[in-house]
Amino acid sequence: MHTKTISQLSAVLRSGEVSSVELTSLFLDRIKQHNLALNCFISITEAQALEAAAAADQRLKAGNAAPLTGVPIAHKDIFCTEGVKTTCGSKMLDNFIAPYESTCTAKFRDAGAVMLGKTNMDEFAMGSSNETSYFGAVKNPWDQGRVPGGSSGGSVSAVAARLAPAATGTDTGGSIRQPAALCGLTGLKPTYGRVSRFGMIAFASSLDQAGPVTYSAEDAALMMNVMAGFDERDSTSVAREVPDYSANLENGIEGLKIGLPKEYFGEGLDGNIARVIDAAIKEYEALGAVVKEISLPNTGLAVPTYYVVAPAECSTNLSRFDGVRFGHRCDDPQDLFDLYTRSRGEGFGLEVKRRIMIGTYVLSAGYYDAYYLKAQKIRRLISDDFRAAFEKVDVIMGPTTPSTAFKLGEKADDPVTMYLSDIYTIAVNMAGLPAASIPAGFVDGLPVGLQVIGNYFDESRLLNVAHKYQQATDWHLQVPKEFQ
Ligand code: GLN
Repeated sequence: MHTKTISQLSAVLRSGEVSSVELTSLFLDRIKQHNLALNCFISITEAQALEAAAAADQRLKAGNAAPLTGVPIAHKDIFCTEGVKTTCGSKMLDNFIAPYESTCTAKFRDAGAVMLGKTNMDEFAMGSSNETSYFGAVKNPWDQGRVPGGSSGGSVSAVAARLAPAATGTDTGGSIRQPAALCGLTGLKPTYGRVSRFGMIAFASSLDQAGPVTYSAEDAALMMNVMAGFDERDSTSVAREVPDYSANLENGIEGLKIGLPKEYFGEGLDGNIARVIDAAIKEYEALGAVVKEISLPNTGLAVPTYYVVAPAECSTNLSRFDGVRFGHRCDDPQDLFDLYTRSRGEGFGLEVKRRIMIGTYVLSAGYYDAYYLKAQKIRRLISDDFRAAFEKVDVIMGPTTPSTAFKLGEKADDPVTMYLSDIYTIAVNMAGLPAASIPAGFVDGLPVGLQVIGNYFDESRLLNVAHKYQQATDWHLQVPKEFQ
């Protein structure tokens, strides 16, 4: 039962073969059994989960269930959940019980999905390995000596180990796609503005976007049907009709034009990963797609530009955590200055401090034009590259990550090498485009992800393209040995 997709679980719940309380208990037991080793949950919300499951069972009996009613899922601990500790992976918020519910989690709650708990993450979503969490590193279920990726590492590790059948994540520079690739799952970052950011603790507001982590594209569509949509409480949410993401999954992809950016296949890409991606592209050709080489000439500027824009935004967003309005407060402050500096000094971890310092620097009067303004101009060039590409092709494909999951500690002391883990994912956030990572094979027993980038609001097509591949392959259904 624990290896079923949420589409299958939804059917099983409807048939009455299993109740939501039974299903929820099964996953709670699995979490208790494995969380000590994997560390993917910060909070396990057992009592609320069982209560929600009982309510879902009533709804199922009454015949007014939605597709996700009774299906257990996990939420990244970046979403405010009313009455439940919401830490964002930080000591700063270790004692924060959210007084309200984020729009995203409220939509799942209203759809009858059952929250199992809140998942571990890099502190304030800054990281690519889940090692910056105040609550400790998360392990990759495929090899527990390796990272699951980040920052949504807890969500992804939990789903990969079948401790939850699906989860939410957020992606500012790759934090859904990169861990999904490293753990063999399907992860989707929607178009900027497609999913409400209300109640989602902000890292870099112009880049942050929530999305699903699932086994299959079919499941991602079910999650998107709940998550997507306009929210008047998020001023950057887009008022645009939400399609039924499950409706076009079966469309044929004959004649689909796939662009392969030459910049994504050059130096820095592991040769074994390149071979896996080539094989996936061949599979698409066999399904009738046509492949075209394209160029995204400003690809090399994406990571350095991101590391100006994201820290700038984070330095302003994180100023609210001052020990007065929000966050950890130091003991016995001598005066206001002491209160601010010690509370922030104690509450934030190293990587967050590094970003705040960089952000404050690039926004300061003497450097604003040279760094921040320049970065914004380059951001436009990066978007323009994609705009030009989408005049010629329907989707863009390439590797999600330059290597498979690395060893715990391997890059922890080398921020620049760590930042390069997102070399293929970051430009997508800079442009605000949607993109998915789907399992495409293995190298030495470790999963490899294929990234599929779409045009603005073209999530339906991405899911269709991913689903067709998943009908022809079974990479997305592989389960790490210990968790089968
Ligand atoms: N790894 C990138 C960073 O550290 C992206 C993180 C994210 O997408 N939240 O900023």
